[in-house]
Amino acid sequence: MLIATSILNNSKVSETNEQRECYNPSHLTELVGRIDLSPNSVVKEAETAAISAQKEWTKQTGAQKSQLLYTMAEALSNHAEDLAELGSKEMGKPITEMKGEVQRAIQLFKYYASEGVHPDGDTIPSSAPNVLQYAKRKPLGVVGVITPWNFPIAIPVWKIAPALICGNSVIWKPAENATLTAFKMMEIFISNGLPEGLINLIVGKGKDVGNELLENTNLNAVSFTGSTGVGQMVAEKCAKRNIKFQTEMGGKNPAVVLNDADVNKSAKAILSGAFRSAGQKCTATSRVIVEEHIMNDFKKALQDEMRNVVVAPAEEGSAYAGPVASEDQYRKVKRYYDLAKEDGKVVAENSIPDENGYFISPLIVEGIGTEHQLWKEEVFGPLIMLVPTKDVQEATELANDTEFGLSASVFTNNLSEAHYFLEHTEAGMVRVNQETAGVEYQAPFGGMKLSSSHTREQGQAALAFYSEMKTYAINHGW
Ligand code: NAD
Repeated sequence: MLIATSILNNSKVSETNEQRECYNPSHLTELVGRIDLSPNSVVKEAETAAISAQKEWTKQTGAQKSQLLYTMAEALSNHAEDLAELGSKEMGKPITEMKGEVQRAIQLFKYYASEGVHPDGDTIPSSAPNVLQYAKRKPLGVVGVITPWNFPIAIPVWKIAPALICGNSVIWKPAENATLTAFKMMEIFISNGLPEGLINLIVGKGKDVGNELLENTNLNAVSFTGSTGVGQMVAEKCAKRNIKFQTEMGGKNPAVVLNDADVNKSAKAILSGAFRSAGQKCTATSRVIVEEHIMNDFKKALQDEMRNVVVAPAEEGSAYAGPVASEDQYRKVKRYYDLAKEDGKVVAENSIPDENGYFISPLIVEGIGTEHQLWKEEVFGPLIMLVPTKDVQEATELANDTEFGLSASVFTNNLSEAHYFLEHTEAGMVRVNQETAGVEYQAPFGGMKLSSSHTREQGQAALAFYSEMKTYAINHGW
C-alpha cells in the first residue's frame, strides 16, 4: 500500500500524529493508500532544509538549473501512466484527462527549463555619461506553494517549475485529497536527482501545517491556489508580513451565446467547459447566457449533446465525467443540485453509473433568477444554468454580475459583438468560440475581482512573481 508522508531533505518523515486512509471516489471500497499527517514541527524542519538548499541552488548556472528541469520533465514522462492512474484513483478525474494533465506538467517543466538560458533582465539607457544601467531578476529565497486537489499534478508544477528556475527553493503543502499523488511525484523527482531540500513536501491539514507555514515560517513568498475564503486569509497573513503572495481562487464563469452562433458547435464546447472533470475546474462554465431568439434551438442542441456526456468510473476510457473528488465535495455539490431541481426547471440531466462512488449527474437548468444563490456562488460541480438575454450589451452586464472574474467566453461569428464582449468583460481570461476552461500554459493565467490577487501565473508572468528585480548602475568613467 502506498503510504504518503512528509519529505524533507529528500527523506521521508516517520513521525505522524494522525493517519488517514484514502479510498477511490469511483469505488468507495477500494483503498488507494494511506496518509501519515505530520505534526506542525515538520514545518520548521522544512524551513531549515529549504534555506540551506536554496543557498547552494542559487550558485548553479542558469544552464545547470535548466538541466534539472529537463530531467524532471523526462522523469515525469517515464512515469506518465502510473502517475495518471494514481491521480485518477485518488481524486476521481477521468483517466484520459489525467493523462493530459501529466503531459501538461511535462510541457511546463520544459517551458521553464528553457528560461534558464534566456535573458533575465534588461539594460536601461542612463541619463548620465559613462553609466551602464541594467535590471536583473534575483531569486526570492524560499517559496511556500499551497495547492488544491483538482489539478493534483499540473498546478503544483506550474508553481514549482518557475520557482526553481528563478533560483528559489520550495516548501510544498498539497491538498489532503491530492497527497498520495504529490508524494509519488516527489519520489519520482528524488530518484531522478532532485538536490536535497530543494523541494520539501509537508503532509497534513491546511489548518495545521498549512497555517504553521503561513504564520511561523521564514518564507519569502507564497503561491496559493484554492478556495476564496482560504485565499483571502493567505493574502492577509502575507500582507502583514510584507512578503510576496499570489492567490488564485474561485470562479463563476459565464459563456454567452449570441444569435448568430453555431448552436451545435457552441453546445459541444460549453458542455465540455462545464462538465469535464465533473465541473471541478476553477475555469469551468457555470452560467450560460443565451440570446432569446436562439434559446429553443440552443436548448435542443444541448439536449442532443448531453448524450455524449457519459458519467462513468474514472478509470474507464469512455468517462466524460467521473465522480466528484470526496465526500465533502459530494455533500456540497449535491445540496446545490437538489436546490437547482427544486427552484429551477430541468433542461437536461444524465444518468449516473450503478457504482458505490461519489457520482452526481450533470445537470442543466433554467428559470433561476440572478438573485438566487446558484447564480452567485461557486458550485464546483457539474451544474449549469441558462439565462436569456436580449443583446450583447445586456449579456455582458449579466456576465459581469458576479464577485468573481476568472474566465469568460462568447460564441458568435460577429466580429464587432465579439470584440465588445472581450473589451467589456471583467475577467482575466476572455475567449471567443472556445470553452471557458483550457487556457494554455505559455499564456498568463489569472483572474480579476475576487478570483485572484491580480498577479498572473504561467507563461512569462510567473517569472516576475518568483523573482525580485534589482537595478544596477555602474559608473565606468570613474
Ligand atoms: P481549499 O482552499 O480548501 O484548499 C487549498 C489548499 O489550501 C489546500 O492545500 C489546503 O490544505 C490549504 N489550506 C486550507 N486551509 C488552510 C489554512 N488555514 N492555512 C493554510 N493552508 C490552508 O481549496 P480546494 O478545495 O483544495 O480547491 C478548490 C478551490 O480551488 C475552488 O474554489 C476552485 O475554484 C479553486 N481553484 C482555483 C484555481 C485558480 O487558478 N483560480 C485553480 C484550481 C482551483
